[in-house]
Amino acid sequence: MELFRKTFIAKAVAALMALLLSANLSINIATINRNYKDINPGKYKNVILFIGDGMGYNSLAYCEKTYSTKLDILTKTPIHGFSETRSSSDRVTDSAAGGTALACAVRTTNGAIGVFPQDQYSLAYVPMNLCELAKSYGRMAGVVTTDSNCGATPSAFSAHTDSRNNGEEISRQQIASNLDLIWGAKSGYVTESDATKNGWKYLDSMADFNALQEGQRSFAQFDGEIWKTQSGADSPTLSKMTEKAIDMLDDDPDGFFLMVEGAHIDKNSHNKDGANMTTAAYEFNNAVKIAFDYADINENTLIVITADHETGGILKDENGDFYYTTGSHTGTDVPLLIYGSKTFIKDGEAIKNKEVSRRLSLAMGAKPGDFPCSVKLADTTKTKDE
Ligand SMILES: [Zn+2]
Repeated sequence: MELFRKTFIAKAVAALMALLLSANLSINIATINRNYKDINPGKYKNVILFIGDGMGYNSLAYCEKTYSTKLDILTKTPIHGFSETRSSSDRVTDSAAGGTALACAVRTTNGAIGVFPQDQYSLAYVPMNLCELAKSYGRMAGVVTTDSNCGATPSAFSAHTDSRNNGEEISRQQIASNLDLIWGAKSGYVTESDATKNGWKYLDSMADFNALQEGQRSFAQFDGEIWKTQSGADSPTLSKMTEKAIDMLDDDPDGFFLMVEGAHIDKNSHNKDGANMTTAAYEFNNAVKIAFDYADINENTLIVITADHETGGILKDENGDFYYTTGSHTGTDVPLLIYGSKTFIKDGEAIKNKEVSRRLSLAMGAKPGDFPCSVKLADTTKTKDE
């Protein structure tokens, strides 16, 4: 017993010395080990990441006031924390770097999609994203957005390029990818024949959407109304897309990874349009609710809801009314809401945006050190026709 105690004290002193000699390194290792144990790697068969683009806590509070209701996003999630959103180049991120941090666990330069900061790395090697990680584990993977498919957030989960403006290259990579579904609004770069030639079922109407059979990979380009709370002839709602996407992906015994983006919280906040922003946030909540219902009967499901950044600098005045202070992004911490795990973060904890992604990788079965990781760009995409 005494010997054990002496050994323990010696080890503790040695550990303390190591900590003092190399504080940063020791702290990093300790953090990794703690996180690894906390979230039970490999436990989760299904992982769903919801990104409310531009969604701050006050965007949600504004929505609750407008609709005179409590949002399930907030009331049903037992753990509420924060994601720290900055990019490698700026205290205020854009959706490209913000999406990359959430997709690849790497902070990059504003404007860049799924690549390391350009000043340090060549584009020959790129950081793997969570969809690619899921596919490497034999899981199914999909991306759903109300934005164009080559918008910054869906692109960060399905492409690698140094600029979000490279829509044609992003679309080429998406079409060449092995994802199981990519659904959003029309980009203008992908034709039905591009999609079908590469093995995708092409969807651009409600009729196509309703006719989609399980087991078919699908590339959808709906019209620009897909962010609203009602379906149109060529646009399912975000909640309908979420429900169907889960249905399409959940037959794989290895599980799935799904990213769902509500892009119009951001877009309407850029216009300081509170009425439409709250509509978008309300429909985003409807979509999340669908996933909660799924998780309630499929226990191995982890749902993480966050944002890439806040848009609008929304504040509340003394009368309880919300107002915009800017039409731009802000650097404020954004919601990080967890359903299906009590240990992904501690209640009230703030973690970096890239750490959200790293913990999601652990939840899918990655070991510490596996992710983030770099892969050859050539290995992530097959070229289309050549
Ligand atoms: Zn924006």
